[in-house]
Amino acid sequence: MSTAALESLKYADVPNYIGGAFAGGAGDLLDVHDPRAGTAIARVGMGGADEIDAAVRAARAAFAGWSVTPIKERAQVFYRYRTLLEENLEELSALVTEENGKVPSEAAAEVLKSIELTEFACSLPQIVAGEVMEVSRGVECRTERRPVGVVASITPFNFPNMVPNWTVPNALMLGNCMILKPSELVPLSANRIAELLAEAGLPAGVFNVVHGGVAAVEAICDHPDIAAVSFVGSTRVAKIVYRRASSNLKRVLALGGAKNHLIVLPDADPAMTSDNVAASMSGCAGQRCMAASVMVAVADADSVIPRVVEAARAIVPGRDVGPVVSAAARDRIVAYIDEAEAAGAEVLLDGRGASVPGHERGYWVGPTVIDRVTPAMRIAREEVFGPVLSIIRASDADDAIRIENASPYGNASSVYTENGGMARYVTERVSAGMVGVNVGVPVPREPFSFGGWNESRFGVGDITGRGSFELWTQSKKTTTKWNREAGVNWMS
Ligand code: NAD
Repeated sequence: MSTAALESLKYADVPNYIGGAFAGGAGDLLDVHDPRAGTAIARVGMGGADEIDAAVRAARAAFAGWSVTPIKERAQVFYRYRTLLEENLEELSALVTEENGKVPSEAAAEVLKSIELTEFACSLPQIVAGEVMEVSRGVECRTERRPVGVVASITPFNFPNMVPNWTVPNALMLGNCMILKPSELVPLSANRIAELLAEAGLPAGVFNVVHGGVAAVEAICDHPDIAAVSFVGSTRVAKIVYRRASSNLKRVLALGGAKNHLIVLPDADPAMTSDNVAASMSGCAGQRCMAASVMVAVADADSVIPRVVEAARAIVPGRDVGPVVSAAARDRIVAYIDEAEAAGAEVLLDGRGASVPGHERGYWVGPTVIDRVTPAMRIAREEVFGPVLSIIRASDADDAIRIENASPYGNASSVYTENGGMARYVTERVSAGMVGVNVGVPVPREPFSFGGWNESRFGVGDITGRGSFELWTQSKKTTTKWNREAGVNWMS
């Protein structure tokens, strides 16, 4: 990058955050783009084994004190963190918009979700209190959840503020120390999270951020002093991380990609269904692992399809939705549409070539609706991760369920119907971890846990809510006998 180009960058090079201090990034520098403008705004260092090792040493040192800090004291930090998220909502949202591209309302929704996640974490003293019971005369058993140690969280580009907050508050509240490795496409929000946690009073070393890509992730998977790893990203990389980290005997939860089917039965309410489907497929420019990707139209759906197209047409790039994250993402999405069209699918609404006045270099793809997609087409089988809805026609509910079940993924699925019995029939049979009835984005909210099935999740448990406790804690069972008169028996 020329000196003039460097001087025009809005932000200085993005540093790592290790042991409570920011220190210059390492390795090669990668440009960070504003996807709306299509220009670089910062550079981020691509850290590797040395930086991960330094962060692990800082986290290990902090673990000694943090892990024995009473949970109610740990909660005080997160009460303050929650307030700081709220006080800085506008600025945090603007940062998400800048590095990810999503529109301000979507960015704000993401930070509000981080607040909800933190509120749940603040309630953990009430939820993870453990149990005590007299299991035989004079003998008491007590169980408690203990932290696992130094843990790592590897996150994707699509929710720069929320996905780190899926893991940070719970893992830390439960007494662990963490290294966050955010997506190199969106490093800025992660460092703001570090600053706010420090401002909230989190001791140095409890939370660390190392920036980078493959080398940093491999170092996490291999480091002997990291006990647990969470990963959120594509299925391809989830498999790599799951295999590599678990072969090194770590506990691992790796969430992967998705291909979510919304099944529309003939009795579905046309207005609600079409608005929901259009919003689900286009929100965050389709870059959500919960986005509608396939609408399975059962029997006569002719009253719904034109309405979906009109609702999607009303969603305007630049005003209602942002661009996709990179030029490469845009080109990949357009290639999927081209290929489907060449294979005989019918593009009812075409977002290719979308442009936004004043932001012509941005990575735009408008909402796109493609009818007559067949299950064999690549666009029906693979994750597109853009504002593209494929419509597959099904003869009846069982046919629709078969189409959904054939997907290797299993994050989300919804059914649209006014018939409770049919809703039950379909929800029982779809192969997905998060299922909706008349809900386009069936995200379970706290205290319910977020996590899919099949190739959308590798490992046991979920990433948020109660489902995350098994990942972030190990249970200690203590058996105690105090009355020495108790007879000696098989368990003495
Ligand atoms: P990605 O898999 O490309 O990257 C995720 C993380 O892995 C990043 O931190 C990246 O630096 C790292 N990484 C990339 N390639 C790697 C490699 N070869 N080896 C080791 N590490 C590597 O994902 P993305 O493009 O940032 O995010 C989009 C994907 O995330 C989509 O597939 C989406 O469905 C998925 N996602 C899933 C969920 C869920 O809950 N299941 C939530 C959000 C996003």
